[in-house]
Amino acid sequence: MTGAVFDKQRHIKYFLRCLKTFLPDLYTSNDSNRILLAYFTVAGLDILGELHNRTTAEERQGYIEWIYHCQIPSGGFRGFTGTDFGRDRRTPENEAWDPANVPSTFFALVILLTLGDDLSRVRRVECLRWLSRMQRENGSFGEVLGSGGRIEGGGDLRFCCFGAGTRYILRGKCVDGLEGIRDIDVNKLVAFIEACQVRKAPLILYPKVYDDLAKKLFQAYDGGIGEGPFCESHSGHTYCAIGALTFLDRLSKKHKPIALLSPGAGPFESLVRWLVARQTSELGDDEEESDEEDNHNTDGVTNLSATIEELNLDARADQLPVIQPATEDSLRWAGFNGRCNKYADTCYSFWNSASLDMMGRLVLVDATRNRHYLLEKTQHIVGGFGKGVGEPPDLLHSYFGLVSLAFQEEPGLESVDPALCSSYRVVRHLHSLPWWQEKND
Ligand SMILES: [Zn+2]
Repeated sequence: MTGAVFDKQRHIKYFLRCLKTFLPDLYTSNDSNRILLAYFTVAGLDILGELHNRTTAEERQGYIEWIYHCQIPSGGFRGFTGTDFGRDRRTPENEAWDPANVPSTFFALVILLTLGDDLSRVRRVECLRWLSRMQRENGSFGEVLGSGGRIEGGGDLRFCCFGAGTRYILRGKCVDGLEGIRDIDVNKLVAFIEACQVRKAPLILYPKVYDDLAKKLFQAYDGGIGEGPFCESHSGHTYCAIGALTFLDRLSKKHKPIALLSPGAGPFESLVRWLVARQTSELGDDEEESDEEDNHNTDGVTNLSATIEELNLDARADQLPVIQPATEDSLRWAGFNGRCNKYADTCYSFWNSASLDMMGRLVLVDATRNRHYLLEKTQHIVGGFGKGVGEPPDLLHSYFGLVSLAFQEEPGLESVDPALCSSYRVVRHLHSLPWWQEKND
């Protein structure tokens, strides 16, 4: 068997094609999220180490201008320019039709940093003031402000992560100039995130006297984190939870220790166990065959009475497919899934590895088998990565495929900060900005 080969030149071509030519029409419905597509494209070239080699200073300045064109005067960024009806026509009454949104604001800031901008034109004070208005009473974040300043959308952990990330970038270590600007409620945000770790039953159901026992027995039923309290564990939302907590923790270590970031604590250890268990050799690459079998069985109605007669348990059990035991060959490829009993998917190599990296447990990933999966199963011949085996490349999976390999120190890739999901070059640039200097701390 030939060794897995990282085809860097093809990936550079893929990201350049996405940057400089039209995207395939399948992206049309993502028009209002164009800033996200821009983030994957620019950041992809950056961790390939080619952003500054393959674009001119004028081009990069053009991209920067486009991002600033997405800035809302009252703070934050829109996801594309399509809702902008012009500064002259904008009034407090109609601005809910062209709102800043929380994820777009985070991505806009990261793109600007990646392109080398110093954020001097970002309306920092307005943005932080707007951000604190985006937090709901339960600690979570919405997506946009609707009419009358009502918080709309969002509510799950993705928005918590982008909210905490935006605060991290713009608050920094020096709060000079932010006097009187209300900060977000960090304690409420942490409490909301902790409540999203999957538990067997609401602790509130247990009498006070059994609290300790209940906590021991039932806290973290499977250990993963869902999109909200009592939802199914999901690696993407788990990443957002750990990312948000990491952003909060990096800005201040003065708060009480966060259990999900504390080795030895129950919530930490059960989450690590759940994340590691997401690595799987079930790739879903035999799916086509089973689809064909299903299609052959389309005359189900005429066979219904015969089928009913066969409905005894022993007969049905005999019809179950034989699951082949794992072999050395079948274990060569092991990607990650995002939920129990799902097939591997390129992006989950990122969501799980990044979470483990932030928790200091990346060493538990079987890096060799993950690399085989990415390079031999989902790396595409035209560059980029598909979601699964044999699928065409797309920007999200291409970027996350690269980042997962970067965590494993693949030669030719910049090392990446798992929280900011950008190269350490970008992180160093952020930390060089005025409000990151600690002199007034
Ligand atoms: Zn995916």
